[in-house]
Amino acid sequence: MAHPMNCYLISIGDEILNGQTLDTNTYFLAQSCRAQGYQVRGIYSIPDQLEAIVDMLNQIKPTADVIVTTGGLGPTKDDITKKSIAAFLGVEMFFHQATEDRIKGLFAPRKIPFTEEHRQQCFFPDHVELLENNLGTAPGMWWELEDQKVLISLPGVPYEMKHLWTDRVMPRLQARWHSSLRNFTLMTAGTGETVLSSLLHEWEEKLPASCSIAYLPDLGRVRLRLTCRDAELPEARFEQLKAEMEHLVKDYVFGYEGVTLPEALGQLLLKQGKSLGLAESCTGGYLSHLITGIPGSSAYYNGGIVSYSNAFKEALLGVSSDTLNTFGAVSRETVLEMVQGILKQPGVDVGIAISGIAGPDGGTPEKPVGTIWIAYGDKKSQHAVKILFTKSRLLNIEYAAYYSLNLLRKFLLGL
Ligand code: AMP
Ligand code: MG
Repeated sequence: MAHPMNCYLISIGDEILNGQTLDTNTYFLAQSCRAQGYQVRGIYSIPDQLEAIVDMLNQIKPTADVIVTTGGLGPTKDDITKKSIAAFLGVEMFFHQATEDRIKGLFAPRKIPFTEEHRQQCFFPDHVELLENNLGTAPGMWWELEDQKVLISLPGVPYEMKHLWTDRVMPRLQARWHSSLRNFTLMTAGTGETVLSSLLHEWEEKLPASCSIAYLPDLGRVRLRLTCRDAELPEARFEQLKAEMEHLVKDYVFGYEGVTLPEALGQLLLKQGKSLGLAESCTGGYLSHLITGIPGSSAYYNGGIVSYSNAFKEALLGVSSDTLNTFGAVSRETVLEMVQGILKQPGVDVGIAISGIAGPDGGTPEKPVGTIWIAYGDKKSQHAVKILFTKSRLLNIEYAAYYSLNLLRKFLLGL
């Protein structure tokens, strides 16, 4: 198809309209569409109401190539997306025995009774192609409409929706719409958009007209995305632009699209054959959570100590009471002793220690809320830095954790 694919995203659910659920589904879908070069023409949130759903579909159908709905596929009475789609298509519902068998197969080992509500989940509007859902009971649905248009309905549960979109829908859409769009994303940490854009500014000015840069900041990192929309742009030229961009910001790059900072650090630890230990105070185990969220982290993570009180810092990490009394728990001296304490634990080669005032209380004029000390290093050398965040408590914790991961990453690389 020659023109860009026109896409509409619809989240269905009363819980979205009354503010109980944040609509993250269309946000995810919009990002994915953009990355593919699909044009998102509209994003709508509508209630679990037959007329509202039918009206919406009728309204957008003329200008849509692809319509994606999420939500309203649960077994409860309020979920009426399927009935609404049947009304929109002017088709009947049919019973699908294979779905009943599959749900019963899922429930039997867990002794969950198969109820009349579940039976309702086995009815589908006619002409559907079912998309197998490995993570839940409701399959995704795909209908071919006239003029090569497609209607897709996915469950509301975000991880099910993502799985169906990524593994079932995207391959089909990609096979149908060849996009001339090319993307390249660098993951950066350790500085903000302003510094990155000043490094890239001159180069950006000279980019071909069909190419642009997007700065996408997120917690403790900025994604830098180069997009070129010209099918005529030679592949070699695009490769050259990628290399130039990476070179200009190389000090901050920790990976490419999709890689997280904990993953990048994990890869580095694996490569260097080093194992990590953590000593956390104000982050309360959050750093450990980030590390253990990665499959296979046991290959390089030995463990951590959450030493929230001074007593724990002394007893478990060997921080001296003199240090704590003289300099306080949030100080260079304390975090250095904390990291030294964790480096003494079995098998630990490199360590991170964090102690800070996450807020909202506990600040003083000398140590305001957001003051965080981080120590990192190996048995030979340890370093400490003070950072001052001004965010809310949870953001302070999250920022400190990400910041510390980047400090250790740079230490391991000798940067
Ligand atoms: P449903 O398919 O309507 O039964 O949705 C199941 C659950 O998924 C709801 O209870 C919400 O918690 C969640 N959910 C539904 N729609 C969305 C959405 N657009 N964004 C994020 N979560 C959603
Ligand atoms: Mg619902």
